[in-house]
Amino acid sequence: MGFAEAVMMGLATDGGLLLPEQIPVIAPEQLRQWTGLSFTDLAVEVLWPYVHEALTRDTLQELVRRSYAGFTHPDITPVVAVGGRRILELFHGPTAAFKDVALQWLGNLFEYFLQRGGGQLNIVGATSGDTGSAAIYGVRGKQRIQIFILHPHGRVSPIQERQMTTVLDANVHNLAIEGTFDDGQRIVKELFNDLEFKHHYQLGAVNSINWARVLAQVVYYFYAWGRVGGDLAKPLAFAVPTGNFGDIFAGYVARRMGLPIGRLILATNRNDILTRFVETGAYTLGEVQPTVSPSMDIQVASNFERYLFYVLKQDSGAVRELMVQLGRDGGFSLSASCMEQVRADFSAVAVSEAATLEQIRATYQATGYILDPHTAVGVRAAADDPAAICLATAHPAKFGEAVQQAIGRAAPEPASLQGLLERETRCVRLPAESGAVKQWIINTLAGGV
Ligand SMILES: *Cc1c(COP(=O)(O)O)cnc(C)c1O
Repeated sequence: MGFAEAVMMGLATDGGLLLPEQIPVIAPEQLRQWTGLSFTDLAVEVLWPYVHEALTRDTLQELVRRSYAGFTHPDITPVVAVGGRRILELFHGPTAAFKDVALQWLGNLFEYFLQRGGGQLNIVGATSGDTGSAAIYGVRGKQRIQIFILHPHGRVSPIQERQMTTVLDANVHNLAIEGTFDDGQRIVKELFNDLEFKHHYQLGAVNSINWARVLAQVVYYFYAWGRVGGDLAKPLAFAVPTGNFGDIFAGYVARRMGLPIGRLILATNRNDILTRFVETGAYTLGEVQPTVSPSMDIQVASNFERYLFYVLKQDSGAVRELMVQLGRDGGFSLSASCMEQVRADFSAVAVSEAATLEQIRATYQATGYILDPHTAVGVRAAADDPAAICLATAHPAKFGEAVQQAIGRAAPEPASLQGLLERETRCVRLPAESGAVKQWIINTLAGGV
């Protein structure tokens, strides 16, 4: 299977996640030459070995250029100094969260492969906030793509709701479901399990398991390394606020490619399945608990399966067995020798809500810089490592309530969030039943939109 096929199918036919057969290793001289490149030129270099059989170099260049043209910072993902700490800001895209880095690129890939190969794609997804808006912005106005995003009516923050419903492009369809986020997920699952419907209507997904999303995120680890001096002799640590393990797995891939990364600090909130795993070797499901960093409130970390493949010495049968066990028993444990490897790869820290808010306050008081609550989890987790680069995954204005609670004032809004509440919206409200959603999709597609 090639890159194009992997991008279009998302998940393998047996339900597993896809990885490239080989991860290219970049020679030190090459790394050194890359340190002066702009973000987009560097992206072309990093992505090229993975995509060269599917895209010409000119096409790759054009897709990368288009994907990052809407970012408001000239560096795309700047590294800023905050007190003595270095922060990699990933939130300068159209929806002010790091998911734009991957979803802008994925949307352009979808459009390009569909134009080249023919066909249509109807993306269906459920969101509790962040992913839905980034996915919508990734494909708005694109040829041959329609997107249907379900959100729980009245249960997403006003800003997040408006980020989705103010997009008026004809190919964007917001469905407010009279139910919870879990109802939305269940409906989407039912639609995908309806194989006749799925195939006839070419349903596709944009969740975090698409390999192309991880790949786009690998780029900014290289970029940050170059920006802080690109010293091959001094391995750098990165602190990564983690939910589905996509972002930190991209860091792991960067290290396998030869980037001198020392520690990867895996920062979780109270939903600490990954931290417990690193500490105990047992990966066991718990209940999701709502926190002030909602985009990290997860039960199963969907990309973790990819890392298991490498820990288990690239034995995909062994990975499959663990996944079966997880589904059947709600957990599994790894051997002591595997855990030695895991602890060499990651150090994990769970951060309480009180400590998260305290970190926002402390950073603000010391420097005037406002962290969003997700970023604050990472900064707190890296407290004992002042040289670590902390990934800033969202703009603080997106999570105004937590920021207000921490420092008694709101963060100034970036242009992309200004005036949202006054803009025209389009959204349909539907009962939380898959039959109703399915019929609405069928009617909408038949209407020739
Ligand atoms: C999605 C998200 C995360 C978690 O990233 P993963 O790749 O799922 O680990 C962290 N912060 C914010 C703001 C997010 O939107």
